[in-house]
Amino acid sequence: MDALLAPDEGPAVEVREGGGGFVVVCEHASRRLPKSLGDLGLAVADLTRHIAWDPGAADVARRLAGTLDADLVLQRFSRLVVDCNRDPALPSAFVTVAEDTTVPGNLDLVDAEKARRMEAIWTPFHAAVDRLLDRRREAGRPSALVTVHSFTPVFRGESRPWHVGFVSTEERSFTEAMLSAMRRDRSLVVGDNQPYSAKDDVDYTIRRHGRDRGVPSVMIEVRNDLLADEAGRSAWAERLSLAIGSFEAEARAA
Ligand SMILES: [Zn+2]
Repeated sequence: MDALLAPDEGPAVEVREGGGGFVVVCEHASRRLPKSLGDLGLAVADLTRHIAWDPGAADVARRLAGTLDADLVLQRFSRLVVDCNRDPALPSAFVTVAEDTTVPGNLDLVDAEKARRMEAIWTPFHAAVDRLLDRRREAGRPSALVTVHSFTPVFRGESRPWHVGFVSTEERSFTEAMLSAMRRDRSLVVGDNQPYSAKDDVDYTIRRHGRDRGVPSVMIEVRNDLLADEAGRSAWAERLSLAIGSFEAEARAA
């Protein structure tokens, strides 16, 4: 099979290194598709919806990384190619029906095609996160992992009340710190493992790079209508960076 990515399309992953205590990850940063996959049989209107990416998440992740001087790993291709926040053994890694939309180009994928997408998109992404965390550990630097996502305000006809939600593994120290920091603002509806939780199989990154390594982790989900303009993204990045910083202060004091 031919390469998934043409030489002028790569790399799959954007990496920035910082000097601070956090690693910020954004698996659903982009809606870009490799040219070799065409449009996967989807209409343009579908390729710009949340089924292709997490609108606003990349900008918030970049702003957080800037403020916190964090390491940053962003996926440059759409989750429709392969979902970097899924165990690749799960059917949802190669989504065939996204919310209510069939993805024709993902129907009946043969193993060789799954392997081609994994090799070009999924594997380099997780290798980049591993490399950064390994290097930090070898240097004796503490690490905490933040993954940045956004969710759609209405899903399958249901309105979602939360402004922000956090997904945790069983190791909840970072998530608890985020919950208590955000709940200080009484105007916010804050979800604890809502609207998503590990039961929805969305915990791959925080489990692999967080829990399994003994690195504190939290997955942040901001409702995407709040990130529609620059003012919103800037305000959320500021609010979240203060909350993240409070966890760092707590860890230092411990
Ligand atoms: Zn996401």
